[in-house]
Amino acid sequence: MNQVAEYFGNITQSLKTIAIGMGVTFRHLFTPAVTVQYPTVKMKLPERARNRLYVNIDDCIGCDQCSKACPVDCIEIEIIKSTPEDDLGITSSGSKKKLHVPVFNIDIAKCCYCGLCVYPCPTECIYMTPVYEFSEFDRQNLIYNYARMSPSEIETAQLKAKKMDEELAAKKAAAALAPKPPVTQPIPPPANTAI
Ligand code: SF4
Ligand code: SF4
Repeated sequence: MNQVAEYFGNITQSLKTIAIGMGVTFRHLFTPAVTVQYPTVKMKLPERARNRLYVNIDDCIGCDQCSKACPVDCIEIEIIKSTPEDDLGITSSGSKKKLHVPVFNIDIAKCCYCGLCVYPCPTECIYMTPVYEFSEFDRQNLIYNYARMSPSEIETAQLKAKKMDEELAAKKAAAALAPKPPVTQPIPPPANTAI
């Protein structure tokens, strides 16, 4: 008798559980959906969302502030001094560019999207974009290279900078070897001069 009661009790419990589950499902048929059909539909990003970085290299003055601010060292910048004859142009905010930037790499695989590189940039040329889908199969493809100088341009700039440094060093050495003008001693006042 006890077994029969337990049998029908289990059936009742199962029906009750199904009814509760279906009740939840039925209720949600009439509530607005909270999911989107990604990737066909994409959610609107918050106003200050931090995603993939971009560098407008035309406005970069090679100051290295962004790289110094990066807590994970994922920005690599190399610079070459320009000579007085070089005209590297000006940035869109009017700053004169004085340094070549032959290397400007960001290893975005290391980036933690803290945004600390964005704030110190004096020309506002490094910034976050709305792009958040950039997965790759090869990790190397996540190293973004923003510099645009060709190998021959880099070589020319390096040679010119080297020559300029050598000329400057030669001038300094010549100045150091040049005879110094004699130091004139102050003339003492006559002994009988009243003070
Ligand atoms: S967002 Fe942060 S981690 Fe990424 S490059 Fe900028 S400073 Fe470095
Ligand atoms: S802070 Fe801005 S201007 Fe300076 S090196 Fe970085 S990107 Fe270029």
